[in-house]
Amino acid sequence: MKISPARVWREKDSRYRLEGSKCKKCSRVFYPPKPSCPYCGYSDTERINLPRRGRVVSWTVEYTVPEGYREYAPIIVGLIELENGTRVIAPIVDVEVDKIYEGMYVEAVLRKIFEDGDEGIIVYGIKFAPST
Ligand SMILES: [Zn+2]
Repeated sequence: MKISPARVWREKDSRYRLEGSKCKKCSRVFYPPKPSCPYCGYSDTERINLPRRGRVVSWTVEYTVPEGYREYAPIIVGLIELENGTRVIAPIVDVEVDKIYEGMYVEAVLRKIFEDGDEGIIVYGIKFAPST
């Protein structure tokens, strides 16, 4: 996995704000943001801010994780429905695997997602943590 520091810097704001894209043709909202719509294929979308809070729809637990991510194992990957109905797939943190339940409230937090020890690059990204 090769990470460009310039790219990370450029995307820092959107990662922190939890931005998605809204299709200018079919008006569907999706995450992560993309220049073209995954639903209708239209190639004009606009960036919008997404609500940071949502509820867990479903999740899977991955006990086998790639090199560079082992300290995080097991990784819980959740399907989360945000308050505006947009569905997001993202890691869920700060909760034991057997404590997650359907409908649990979670909120977006900025966490370290990758660290390259040789180059000292730390990448941050959105994860979801339990919320009241
Ligand atoms: Zn569309």
